[in-house]
Amino acid sequence: MADFTFAGKRIKSATRQQVELPAGRLPSGTQLSLAVEVLHGAEKGPVLWLSGAIHGDEIVGVEIIRRVLERLDARRLSGTIIAVPVVNVFGFVTGSRYLPGRRDLNRSFPGSVRGPLASRLARLFIDEVVDVSDIGIDFHAGSDDRTNLPQVRGNMDHAETHRLGLAFGAPLVLHSKTIKGTLRDVALKRGKTIILFEGGEPRRFSEQAVAVGVMGTLRSLEALGMGGIVGVVPDPPAKAPTLSRSTAWVRASRGGIFRLETELGSYVTKGGRVGMIADPSGRGGSEVRARSTGVVMGHSVNPLVHQGDALVHIAEFA
Ligand SMILES: [Zn+2]
Repeated sequence: MADFTFAGKRIKSATRQQVELPAGRLPSGTQLSLAVEVLHGAEKGPVLWLSGAIHGDEIVGVEIIRRVLERLDARRLSGTIIAVPVVNVFGFVTGSRYLPGRRDLNRSFPGSVRGPLASRLARLFIDEVVDVSDIGIDFHAGSDDRTNLPQVRGNMDHAETHRLGLAFGAPLVLHSKTIKGTLRDVALKRGKTIILFEGGEPRRFSEQAVAVGVMGTLRSLEALGMGGIVGVVPDPPAKAPTLSRSTAWVRASRGGIFRLETELGSYVTKGGRVGMIADPSGRGGSEVRARSTGVVMGHSVNPLVHQGDALVHIAEFA
């Protein structure tokens, strides 16, 4: 197969190569680059990108991408994989979701070459990665003090996204509209198929999330006809994913200490108890009840809550 050109570098058929994309300097003068792994297959096929740590502290995707790469051989691959384990290199080195100036990379797409750092990094990623790809899988984790059930999000009204979302085989598939400035929004508008994986907590390699993410990515490669997998190809999931089109947060009715009485993936019914909030002494307890029926797709891991804090996130059923 013909060479693949990535960021001006030629990648030969059936090879894997690391390419550095310069992303700017720290005030110390240190140059930061995106380390990109490009696997160019032996046969023709789609170009797929894998991106992690767009939110710099959501590192679960870094480990998922590492384990996926370990399972791949370019000589068996049809198509090309562009893997970017750490997109927000600035947030990653400081353990932050954001870039300097608290700018959210995932609100900065498509970006510009003259804007602030987040905007420039967004532009670099669009120009060098998204625009040369057909399909993307973007890996995230819960933000702040939250943990998420491994899940796929995407615009399920888009036929290819729907097919890929189900093939991934995460326990939950969530239809969600795109927010302006997100990678998902901009990629869709550029005609790409994109799914977003969410799972686990920030700053942790949540094992369940990593395992589902790795299996799902390998299943996606099979569903896309790309192959490339060394060893056992994962079967489709035993249980079909739950499909949800709306979500709702259960919020704290008072401040206090929150005790969770449910867990990720649990089925809850409207009015059912999901926890308690009380004073540290245990006095003044009040029950926390689900306001809709569905599956627990995320929850706070911080027991100290103020009135109105988001506690339990429920993926609702129609
Ligand atoms: Zn995120």
